[in-house]
Amino acid sequence: MKSYRELLDRIKDKLHPEGVAMQSRLAIPEPDVIWVGNRTIVRNFGNIAEAIGRDPQKVLIFLARELATAASLDEDKRAIFIGRKDLQSFKVLLQRYVKDYVICPVCKSPDTKLERHKRVTFLICEACGAKSPVRD
Ligand SMILES: [Zn+2]
Repeated sequence: MKSYRELLDRIKDKLHPEGVAMQSRLAIPEPDVIWVGNRTIVRNFGNIAEAIGRDPQKVLIFLARELATAASLDEDKRAIFIGRKDLQSFKVLLQRYVKDYVICPVCKSPDTKLERHKRVTFLICEACGAKSPVRD
């Protein structure tokens, strides 16, 4: 005799075969930020990009633009920003990046990729197949 809990889980699995409902939020690692002189270094930037499944260079370009500064990646995939930027800014911007460029707006799955067609970038969802244009 299965427990009510197990039965409920099985029903949920049937309703959401991809586990879509469970994955509506990605765990973004806490940015590990240090300040050296007039620079801000995100030491775990490579891990963050990996966790959200995006090219570190693309995430870097987004952050640099939103922070209105110049940024570069070093050989250890640490991100170096010109100017002193606070931890909270990185957290807010990374959440916005994930919301706009990673999470499928239709089914909320993070299982997506970006593809460029002509002059428009689309977020392609591997869970539900939705193709949503995103802001460049
Ligand atoms: Zn989707």
